[in-house]
Amino acid sequence: MPELPEVETVARGLDRHMTGRRILRVEKNRPDLRTMMPADLVARLEGRRVEAVRRRAKYILVDLDDGAVVLAHLGMSGRITIAPPGQAPNRPDPHDHVVLHLDDGTVLRFNDARRFGRIDLARRDTLDAHPLLAGIGPEPLGPDFDGPRLAAALAGRRSPIKAALLDQRVVAGIGNIYACEALHLARLSPQRLAMTVTGARADRLAAAIRDVLQRAIAAGGSSIRDYVQTSGELGYFQHDWTVYGREGEPCRRCGDAVAVRRLVQSGRSTFYCARCQR
Ligand code: ZN
Repeated sequence: MPELPEVETVARGLDRHMTGRRILRVEKNRPDLRTMMPADLVARLEGRRVEAVRRRAKYILVDLDDGAVVLAHLGMSGRITIAPPGQAPNRPDPHDHVVLHLDDGTVLRFNDARRFGRIDLARRDTLDAHPLLAGIGPEPLGPDFDGPRLAAALAGRRSPIKAALLDQRVVAGIGNIYACEALHLARLSPQRLAMTVTGARADRLAAAIRDVLQRAIAAGGSSIRDYVQTSGELGYFQHDWTVYGREGEPCRRCGDAVAVRRLVQSGRSTFYCARCQR
C-alpha cells in the first residue's frame, strides 16, 4: 500500500512529465473505482493544460488551467505507469481504468486491480473543503506541523499513540510503516497513551516523523531515475526499514541482545523495541 513518500514520489514524477502539457485525449474505461468517478471526467480533462502536480495527504493533486483540480488516490493497489514520448506505450492491461494522452505523445495509465483507489474533481479555490480533504490534519513536512501542534492534536486522546498517528485528523498521510519507524526513532512505545505525548516527547516525535518521511522521499527519488522505473511505473521503491517487518531481528539501536517485537493494534501489525521505546 503506498504511503506518503511513495505518493510524493509519484506526484513528483507526474509533475516532471505532465506540467506544461495539454491533455489531448482521455480514455475512461469504467464508471467507478472505490466510488463513482465524475460522469463528465473526460470532457473536463480533454483540452486542459496541466499547471502543476502536487500532493496533499495521500492524494495526488493535478492543477488544471481552468481552476479545476484532479484528486487521485492510489488506494491499496493503484499504480500509474508512464510512457514518455518516443517510447513504445506500456502494454494495455484490463485494470487500466483511466488513460491520458498528452500533447507531446506521453501516455499515462492509472491501473488499479483492486479498485480501492479514487479519482475525483475539485476546485482549487475550495479544495480544502472537498469532502475527501476536509478535516485532514497538517502536512507533516509542511510549516504547520511541530511538537506543540502534535501535542495539541493528541490532547485528551486515550488511544495508543500508534493508533492516534494513523488518524488522518492528527497528521496527514502517516500509514502503518512510518508510524512504526517514527515511534522507534523517537524512542516512544507504540502502546503509550497518546495524551501523554507532550513537551519534549512531542518535539521528538514530530521531528522523527519528518525525518523518516524525508529520508524515504530522498531514497525514492535517488533510487528511481527520473522517478520512473524501467517498467514505466512511477514512484515505488525498495526501503530499508529500521523496525518495520523485522520481528526477531536485533534492534539497530540496542544491538544484538534485544530483538524487535511485533504486536497487533487495531488489526495492524506494530513493530517496536521493548527496551528503547518507552
Ligand atoms: Zn532498541
